[in-house]
Amino acid sequence: SLFPLMGLVLAIFFYSAKQEFKVEMLKGKRVIVTGASSGIGEQMAYRLARTGSHILITARTEGKLRKVSTQCRELGAASIHYVSGSMENMAFAQVVVKEAEKLWGGLDMLILNHIGSTYFGYFKGDTEHLRKLLEINVLSYVTMTVSALPMLKESRGSIVAVSSLAGKVGTPFTVPYSTTKFALDGFFSSLRQMLVVENANVSITLCVLGYINTDTAMKTVSHVIRNKPAPKEECALEIIKSGALRQRELHYPYISVRIPLLLRDWAPDFLDSLTRNNMDIEKVK
Ligand code: NDP
Repeated sequence: SLFPLMGLVLAIFFYSAKQEFKVEMLKGKRVIVTGASSGIGEQMAYRLARTGSHILITARTEGKLRKVSTQCRELGAASIHYVSGSMENMAFAQVVVKEAEKLWGGLDMLILNHIGSTYFGYFKGDTEHLRKLLEINVLSYVTMTVSALPMLKESRGSIVAVSSLAGKVGTPFTVPYSTTKFALDGFFSSLRQMLVVENANVSITLCVLGYINTDTAMKTVSHVIRNKPAPKEECALEIIKSGALRQRELHYPYISVRIPLLLRDWAPDFLDSLTRNNMDIEKVK
């Protein structure tokens, strides 16, 4: 009979219908964006401003945050605030969440996006750099998540953690960075399970990003990576959509992230050589 087939078609139809993003989903929502003074974080702040969200942005450089805030106000943010400081300091990570509580008495979305600066090059066993990067890229994410969870549980909110293909697949020249991004997968994928067990309705979205045209990425890798970077504006929109839709993971750009993820468990050596062949290794300093 055709019934099972029709059922499958209907299920796929309803599943994809559910996936549609509407700007109203974020209107009036209270959102924290970290690492919002430049790159993808800055673009996310502008996107949220256009949808009329309440926004709290953070990074170290106050001057840049001030400029991003002014722009957000002009674009239509329901409200915009910033706190400057370094995520090397876990007390500061807590201060940012406390600030949201003071401002709004609650929180709907926590977007964790900042990263400490690192190098693209040969790993020389610099464990101190790795320790510092783990603090900035991972521990501060954990600290902010822990502080924000009570508010997010109350609002049935969302956590969005920005990671990388280098946090899913081994890549040369990014040993400390990859270590921190793989750790995010471990923490957030386990926490997602924990929240289901606890019956807490807080979504967790892990964003697995490929190569994006931010100034930092262009400066560090454009002379080595052979493919073209994707635009940061579109990337920012896709991250926000995936959070609003409570997706488990975002894969952006779709094809250049999906193919390595598919190959990863089935042909890992082949994937490793493809990854190396995509780089001009001679040019690594
Ligand atoms: P940027 O370098 O443009 O932005 C990094 C942000 O983090 C800045 O706002 C910076 O501001 C802030 N930051 C740096 N150090 C600290 C610190 N110690 N404490 C607090 N904030 C800090 O990066 P991108 O926009 O390129 O990357 C954003 C995210 O996307 C990252 O998580 C990255 O891993 C991910 N990603 C990016 C890719 C790409 O190709 N661009 C590819 C894959 C993933 P300030 O200096 O003022 O503190």
